[in-house]
Amino acid sequence: MYAPLISRLNDLLLTTDRKQRLRITRSLMAANVFIACCFLQIYAWSIGYMELEDVKRLSGVIVLNILTWYVVLRSGLNLRFDDPAMTLPQILSALTIIVGAYSVTGPVHGSTMMLLALVLVFGIFNMKQKGAIIAGGYTVVLMGIAILIKIRTDPLHYPFKLEIAHFVLTAAIVPTISGLAAQLSSLRAKLQAQKDELANALVRIQILATRDELTGLVNRRHMLEVLGQHKKRLERSGHHRFCLALLDIDHFKRINDTHGHAVGDEVLRNFAKVVQSGLRDTDVLARWGGEEFLVLLNDTSPELANVGLERARMLLAEATTVAALPDLKPTFSAGLTAYNLNEALDVCIERADRALYKAKDGGRNCTVIRMGLTAADATYRSPTEPSTLQE
Ligand code: GH3
Ligand code: MG
Ligand code: MG
Repeated sequence: MYAPLISRLNDLLLTTDRKQRLRITRSLMAANVFIACCFLQIYAWSIGYMELEDVKRLSGVIVLNILTWYVVLRSGLNLRFDDPAMTLPQILSALTIIVGAYSVTGPVHGSTMMLLALVLVFGIFNMKQKGAIIAGGYTVVLMGIAILIKIRTDPLHYPFKLEIAHFVLTAAIVPTISGLAAQLSSLRAKLQAQKDELANALVRIQILATRDELTGLVNRRHMLEVLGQHKKRLERSGHHRFCLALLDIDHFKRINDTHGHAVGDEVLRNFAKVVQSGLRDTDVLARWGGEEFLVLLNDTSPELANVGLERARMLLAEATTVAALPDLKPTFSAGLTAYNLNEALDVCIERADRALYKAKDGGRNCTVIRMGLTAADATYRSPTEPSTLQE
């Protein structure tokens, strides 16, 4: 019953942003150190070791410090800084207050030293190497100054011999903790670098597994997955009919033999680009192998799919595929067919392949549309002399 209310109160006090929430919670958790410090003062005052005025002053500073950091984090002011967690400034302000407490808690001041260590431990989880060194150095110097002042002004409660021991302890423990924080920070940085490296490797592996290296098109293996998904979608919904077309560059071997393999590669790369630009965004062009390409033409009939192929053919006739050889105008032959509901993909691809074979046989640079087992094929020859050949 109270759960939604508590959750709304949490949203109000700690924000709904997950990262900001974590920062505010951590800051409030660190406030526990201050609460311990307040209790220590009240205890010192109750047994006559501390003046009430000093208790009020120090407690006031503590509350002000907690509230200031809460307002900075809750208002989002922290987001303007390089480290939005503001770990180092929060730690430095906490250390200053603890050293202040050390200076006013009289005979029980030794207890506050543990709080110094506790504050530094908080920093271990979040501070960068440089921050850890700054916090450690700051603590030792500040404690040194406080001890020097107290030895002179209140030698009764801060006797020289005891304070020397306190300083030696501070100078030994604090650098150890900040050294640990620095080590942890570099470990975190290494882990982050490894994580980034793995993420990059994963992206590369995904590209290698799904893309053809030469043309950047979908590769044969991934195309089979894509086709499988489209087949399932059609079977489930009865909608989204699709067509398949097999494209094969005409006399490609001649291009290789005459101009070399590198020119052949350039033709393949640019052929892929030009054909892709002639197709719809929802169509998928894959490198099926060698100089053969498979096109998945979505939500369309063979007649309309052929419009896309003819557009690609026209663009190819206009394009310069190899900059150094403007007269080189590669053409392609195609076999186009519609996928029939519930048939195996192999059967459909085989039908497109046989249509392609027929297009080659019929003189190349044309598309043969194979409707089905019984219907007749149609051949489209373009762009210069579009014609339809019926079998
Ligand atoms: P057709 O009009 O009958 O298709 O004749 P073609 O010469 O295009 O057909 P063929 O299958 O005889 O030749 C295909 C050539 O494609 C043979 C092969 O060396 C070449 N080839 C296959 N893959 C690549 C490739 O990645 N780069 C290059 N440069 N050539 C390739
Ligand atoms: Mg060929
Ligand atoms: Mg071939």
